[in-house]
Amino acid sequence: MSDRDGKIWKDGELIDWRDATVHVLTHTLHYGMGVFEGVRAYKTDKGTAIFRLKEHTQRLFNSAKIFQLNIPFDMETIVQAQLQVVRENKLESCYLRPLVWIGSEKLGISAKGNTIHVAVAAWPWGAYLGEDGLAKGIRVKTSSFTRHHVNVSLVRAKACGYYINSILANQEALTDGYDEALLLDTEGYVSEGSGENVFIVKNGKIYTPDLASCLDGITRDAVLTMARDLGIEVIEKRITRDEMYCCDEAFFTGTAAEITPIRELDNRQIGEGKRGPITEKLQSLFFDVVAGKAPQYQHWLTLV
Ligand code: PMP
Repeated sequence: MSDRDGKIWKDGELIDWRDATVHVLTHTLHYGMGVFEGVRAYKTDKGTAIFRLKEHTQRLFNSAKIFQLNIPFDMETIVQAQLQVVRENKLESCYLRPLVWIGSEKLGISAKGNTIHVAVAAWPWGAYLGEDGLAKGIRVKTSSFTRHHVNVSLVRAKACGYYINSILANQEALTDGYDEALLLDTEGYVSEGSGENVFIVKNGKIYTPDLASCLDGITRDAVLTMARDLGIEVIEKRITRDEMYCCDEAFFTGTAAEITPIRELDNRQIGEGKRGPITEKLQSLFFDVVAGKAPQYQHWLTLV
């Protein structure tokens, strides 16, 4: 991925893709203390637009604040950097990765005095869990790994090191022949996927875990808003895995995963074993929204 043409924004400048490197003694590379975002831009009739750019940028700054990483740029600069990388790389639709990391001045647990760096890259990225997954649903396995505890990791932050837990879970699920993992919290309640929030549908109502142990997903928020606007009741509450076995529909949400139906959990068929009608309705509205075809959600899009 590193050896290709293109431009990456790094510390205030647009540089060649191949030159966007760091030293091996970079603090974040050793200890995982860094924060990042995953953002998508979509093709619309008016040109390419970034979905919920302000919210993603705000979450990046919140993540940095949680870890006392002083980003040496203001929010507007990082907003402009994201717009610039999409424009300069001439991308019609893409995934964007803003990253904040600690420099290589010194190692040791304390990063006090080290410099803070920011980069933004963007590249084309199709359906994260596959086109087939979007249409037909995926097979999911409850992980043997537990999701972060709120007082061990600060789960409002989207932090680099947290993804060791996600990788362990995802690796286990894929090795065992499933498409994705479902992680439970430290008390055994449903939390989220390795990179997605999770929803279930039962008797026409939508349920999702409250924000105790899962990321405050921006797609999750979009789905909650769209569902309410469609007149569907949404409830944030603790969910058990057996409650999920017996639900009518289930789906994951995320910037990468978009809205991906779950057709099976732990070898139990969910509902009819395919994308359910409420999932389909939300998914279809979501793809209209990101394509600029739903005027009431135009404020979620920023043209590049
Ligand atoms: N949970 C985790 C652990 C994630 O990595 C992501 C992806 N950012 C999500 C949930 C979904 O968040 P969003 O909709 O903001 O991408």
